[in-house]
Amino acid sequence: MRLSRYFIPVLRDDPKEAQIASHRLMLRAGMVRQASAGIYSWLPLGQKVLRRIQEIVHQEQVAAGAIELLMPTLQSADLWRESGRYDDYGKEMLRIRDRHERDLLYGPTNEELVTDIFRQTVKSYKDLPKILYHIQWKFRDEIRPRFGVMRGREFLMKDAYSFDIDSEGSRASYNKMFVAYLRIFARLGLKAVPMAADTGPIGGDMSHEFIILAETGESQVFCDKALLDLDPLAMDVDFDGNLQPIVDQWTGPYAATDEKHDADRFNAQVPVDQQVSARGIEVGHIFNFGTKYSEPMGARVTGPDGALVAAEMGSYGIGVSRLVGAIIEASHDERGIIWPEAVAPFKVGLINLKSGDSTCDSACEDLYARLTKAGVEVLYDDTQDRPGAKFAAMDLIGIPWQVLVGPKGVAAGKFELKCRKTDERIELSADSIVERLT
Ligand code: ATP
Ligand code: MG
Repeated sequence: MRLSRYFIPVLRDDPKEAQIASHRLMLRAGMVRQASAGIYSWLPLGQKVLRRIQEIVHQEQVAAGAIELLMPTLQSADLWRESGRYDDYGKEMLRIRDRHERDLLYGPTNEELVTDIFRQTVKSYKDLPKILYHIQWKFRDEIRPRFGVMRGREFLMKDAYSFDIDSEGSRASYNKMFVAYLRIFARLGLKAVPMAADTGPIGGDMSHEFIILAETGESQVFCDKALLDLDPLAMDVDFDGNLQPIVDQWTGPYAATDEKHDADRFNAQVPVDQQVSARGIEVGHIFNFGTKYSEPMGARVTGPDGALVAAEMGSYGIGVSRLVGAIIEASHDERGIIWPEAVAPFKVGLINLKSGDSTCDSACEDLYARLTKAGVEVLYDDTQDRPGAKFAAMDLIGIPWQVLVGPKGVAAGKFELKCRKTDERIELSADSIVERLT
């Protein structure tokens, strides 16, 4: 992509409304613009990152055996009356009335709707287990939307729902999502720790929140430092096998959110120098809630003995749009964002230090063409800005690799390759640069 033809409205100054780094940097790097309180337009750079995250989430959900569908954002209030949550949900629910005076709502979550789909279609234990998921916008009329996309009112969520014939099956589905979540966050370049959590209005008895440690997090959390040293991507995972040993490995060491914290147990179980007490950002939350929805909504299947039983269910959420902010909170410096390669909007930023100079232009065009042909996503700064402004903008938007092309380099046949994260620079020939980056 040529920057001159692209759309990245960067801001020079810090926006006053931004209290935390991710919000400030997302606005400054031209990733989002606020449309109204807690509601954002995703500009091209932001949308690209959002897509990269979704792609990883999709891959890992499918690998774990979940099946994608797509449910609407608008839901009938009647379904929520059946579960009893229409009144319980309170002011966070955006309620809408259509021209026929029917009550609708903008879905804050989808337990009711997916249970309705299930009860209309699945009749026998032979069709189980099933895990259905989608990535869809949600709306919660948060009392205090803040921190940009971290606590929005409209936000993108991946939500999955499992259906099993008994609690043993349900536990296996829960474990699949638990392990899939470990892999997703690790692939996004994050260290997310599963912590015992309260179930809140969703209900149920087993629940974990996946938390990233960050000073700006809204949750107070406590855990054993050992959990921060485990690497989910080093584990051998067979989603058709027994995942309990992996789950046990991650739930053995102490980890709890504020509401579930037990200071005596923490002190007894974790040596003082291993105790972590920190702020955290919740990026995912999984629940096992048995028949809380299937019972009142009549989602029953015939079991092996011919008797009707309510399906055992769980739900599994990931804050996809919140993750964009969370990744930035975990990976930035005073100059700007540092994207982990897995989610970077472009892999390479190609900087022409003297646009208009024919030798610089043709060296850039050559590198741009060769990298693009090899399938590498390149943002080519072909604008007339000063080198200093180009460096600052490229550092701000955080593309992992920068290639600097100036008259001296062209003359010597060597160009500088800079790593955004480590700031390391090396001089290489065009051939070596192409080889390294492909
Ligand atoms: P929180 O405690 O942060 O309000 P929650 O417990 O209400 O979150 P869930 O119902 O578990 O959230 O939703 C699943 C995921 O959706 C959360 O783990 C979080 O990452 C994300 N999420 C929830 N509310 C918001 C919001 N207002 N803005 C952005 N993401 C959100
Ligand atoms: Mg929660």
